[in-house]
Amino acid sequence: MYRTHTCGELRITNQGNQVTLSGWIQRIRNFGGMTFIDLRDRYGITQLVFDQEKQPELFEKAKKLGREFVLQIKGIVQERSNKNPNLPTGDIELIVNELNILNKSEVPPFTIEDESDGGDELRMKYRYLDLRRNPVKNNLILRHKMAQEIRKYLDGQEFLEVETPVLIKSTPEGARDFVVPSRMNPGEFYALPQSPQVFKQLLMVSGYDRYFQIVKCFRDEDLRADRQPEFTQIDCEMAFVEQEDILQTFEGLTKHLFRTIKGVELNGEFPRMDYQTAMNRYGSDKPDLRFGMEFVELTELTKGYDFPVFESAEYVGGIVAPNCSEYSRKELDQLTKFVQRPQIGAKGLVYVKYGADGSFKSSVDKFYQPEALAKWAEQMQAKPGDLLLVMAGEKKKTLPQLSELRLHMADQLGLRDKKQFAPLWVVDFPLLEFDDETQRYYAMHHPFTAPKPEDIELLAGNPAAVRANAYDLVINGVEIGGGSVRIFDDRLQQEMFTILGFTHEEAQAQFGFLMNAFKYGAPPHAGVAFGFDRLVSLFAGNDSIRDVIAFPKNNAGRDVMIDAPSPIAIDQLDELELRLK
Ligand code: ASP
Repeated sequence: MYRTHTCGELRITNQGNQVTLSGWIQRIRNFGGMTFIDLRDRYGITQLVFDQEKQPELFEKAKKLGREFVLQIKGIVQERSNKNPNLPTGDIELIVNELNILNKSEVPPFTIEDESDGGDELRMKYRYLDLRRNPVKNNLILRHKMAQEIRKYLDGQEFLEVETPVLIKSTPEGARDFVVPSRMNPGEFYALPQSPQVFKQLLMVSGYDRYFQIVKCFRDEDLRADRQPEFTQIDCEMAFVEQEDILQTFEGLTKHLFRTIKGVELNGEFPRMDYQTAMNRYGSDKPDLRFGMEFVELTELTKGYDFPVFESAEYVGGIVAPNCSEYSRKELDQLTKFVQRPQIGAKGLVYVKYGADGSFKSSVDKFYQPEALAKWAEQMQAKPGDLLLVMAGEKKKTLPQLSELRLHMADQLGLRDKKQFAPLWVVDFPLLEFDDETQRYYAMHHPFTAPKPEDIELLAGNPAAVRANAYDLVINGVEIGGGSVRIFDDRLQQEMFTILGFTHEEAQAQFGFLMNAFKYGAPPHAGVAFGFDRLVSLFAGNDSIRDVIAFPKNNAGRDVMIDAPSPIAIDQLDELELRLK
């Protein structure tokens, strides 16, 4: 037997027991005639004692050990004189009477400590060592527990977990596909699923009226902190339901997870906000509601004062930064620089300091007298001592820019507390999005999303105005999930494809199977998918989803540990009948 106990298990009640432990060396400390070694496994750390006087041979042997060696230890549990209240095993230690070196280790390239000295890339390259560290390990344990609770909850609601294929054909989630050449069908390719969307809809046609799957999805997109080329969704679909059923069911799942995993009760119904309101108030379809700072439009109020920027602007609006009227020149310059960063792309920022004494001082004093600025302040419900930050321009561009500023200010003011959770359903998304570059409409969610019945008549004449029965769950400004009520009528689906610019033949070639299926008794259905990595990372209080994925890829989409992607042999290419350009 390699072990009788784990390294996190022994307590004072085990005093006097002869036990066997196996694990890795976390730390070695030498004090003259005594050597202390912390032995670590997944469950914890136990202190080992080697006493020169009592066991000179073992003491000598222990001298040759190094960090991360794998040991098997036999010994007797004894009470520690120097207890460590921070460690569950901190009351005891092991007087070693047998030491077996199961394996040696090279000196690890970074310290296996909670705060490691290794940089991101180094830790990714040696991910198997990084995974030994508590913060990463705890994230994976959290992830596991969440997956179990998700299954428990959904199983309790009669959902069936069904696996869907990975080698498929393009799915329309709006990203680029990863493709896999087919050896048996030269010149042809599979696409990896951007989501199991079409399969879950087909399962509804098959009568499996509640489906879920914790499933890998693949999207070839530019990467960010909350994106990986392969990521995991909690993918769900239900038949004979309306939007309301989905919102209730998945609000239930969310509350269940918060309750069982975090011990947090999310009381009451999650607030709901329609897309247009979210955009107008927060400039984002995933507003962070942990704090206010809503936008106030000033377009009308600012016209007629000969300030050319505002005169010509389609939209003028601002936010109130509470108690910030004392911001220095430098701080204000930094805010302007922030919004002018290329990723945000604003031209500039106007500020108004509403002094605690009721005075007004602004960057547009030349154009606006204090009386005019007082009207802005009134409109914005600002109080003396506040700072007004105003931006202007084309509405479509200015709202998201102001949103960035709002989040930035909240960060500066410490208003985004990771222990606070503000869930929100954003509903009534537009069905379609017009792309100026290609001059055509795209489905905002995906082409299977149903328009609101009352908006269907607008489809022909004014498609941009059509709202969808589509919804997103947002928590703390993070899009946790999204879904929609589906079209289940083959003619409406065909019309949708036409609006999206598919010819009849193209639609048939790509989605003929789905429209055919719809001819055989498709039930009304709807669904949703949650980003599992994002949800875990929100629960863990991390900013990046990488930290909750066992083997993630870096920002260039590389797995630096196994070195993928990598070139393949000419033979392999030949077999696939492929030649590199
Ligand atoms: N397939 C969708 C997505 O991945 C979710 C859904 O509509 O159920 O965003």
